[in-house]
Amino acid sequence: MGDVMPLEEYQKLRDFSKSPEPKGGAKQSEGNIFVVHEHDATRLHYDLRLSMGGVLRSWAVPKEPPGKEGVKRLAIQTEDHPLEYADFEGTIPEGMYGAGTVKIWDKGEFILEKEKEDEVLFELKGKKLIGKYALIKTRFRGKDSWLFFKRK
Ligand code: MN
Repeated sequence: MGDVMPLEEYQKLRDFSKSPEPKGGAKQSEGNIFVVHEHDATRLHYDLRLSMGGVLRSWAVPKEPPGKEGVKRLAIQTEDHPLEYADFEGTIPEGMYGAGTVKIWDKGEFILEKEKEDEVLFELKGKKLIGKYALIKTRFRGKDSWLFFKRK
């Protein structure tokens, strides 16, 4: 998740002549938004994306994100996505990176409360995810693994 060219990894993984996904770079201003995509790929999962530092920082969550306290979900950090991706829905063709159907599962206001290297505290005002949440880095499942949960 490089700071110098934040979308380099995102663009390197994709062929935009074949994928309907946005290439990025069109939107510069950062709205305080989050989006959760339901991604019916090889395995159904949820992609949590938070607008931070001019990109959508992204985590793949293998199970449905928690609407209530007491449930901790593994969240694997993936490449930063362009801000335009917050509006994206579509089907990524077979053979492409992330092939499958992408739908918006939830979207809304994102309020960042605290950001550290290993901890992000925030509030979400979506339709399904409402309240205070945390992402805490864990070494449990490799260097990109975090825990995502609702807090008091
Ligand atoms: Mn995904």
